[in-house]
Amino acid sequence: MRPVKYNVHVKPLENDISMAEMPEGHQGEGFFATQLSSVIGLARKNSLWPLPFATSCCGIEFMATMASTYDFGRFGSERVGFSPRQCDLLMVMGTIAKKMGPVLKQVYIQMAEPRWVMAVGACASSGGIFDTYSVLQGIDQIIPVDVYVSGCPPRPESIIDGLLNIQDLVGKESLRRRNSNEYKALLESYGIQ
Ligand code: SF4
Repeated sequence: MRPVKYNVHVKPLENDISMAEMPEGHQGEGFFATQLSSVIGLARKNSLWPLPFATSCCGIEFMATMASTYDFGRFGSERVGFSPRQCDLLMVMGTIAKKMGPVLKQVYIQMAEPRWVMAVGACASSGGIFDTYSVLQGIDQIIPVDVYVSGCPPRPESIIDGLLNIQDLVGKESLRRRNSNEYKALLESYGIQ
């Protein structure tokens, strides 16, 4: 007979990665007070929905990152989606040919705010080894990027590190940032309304 395993935490939960960090605040007997933006940041950073835009080898590293050994889902981001309207983290992995640029930009535009972008690997970040007429020399030529992950290809640990950096940005982002003049100017510089 096969042994039955139960998902029992033998360690105290405070030390477990499944516990989300508590936001800064004040607590006493029966109450905890914090900022609304901290609570929203906490919820957003632990429930990111990635949209993998994978065009070549870095996408294979992403598959390894999603699989059981590295388990990307530990960070609340296991709900990978291919509908831009439902996702909030665009992960661009692979060589982006100039012909593909408008497609990538359209995917970005279709994502609802707030949205974040991670350029995974040398190709997405800078064109990588393909310093040639047909390859985009970094996706930040067409859309704003929040976090760059180095490597050709980056190891799964690097991709996870990129996600942790994104989570840090998401958790600390002001609720007003997306309405600020600076953000609107950033989008306008890319020709995005
Ligand atoms: S960075 Fe390297 S591994 Fe990633 S898509 Fe480019 S050539 Fe492939």
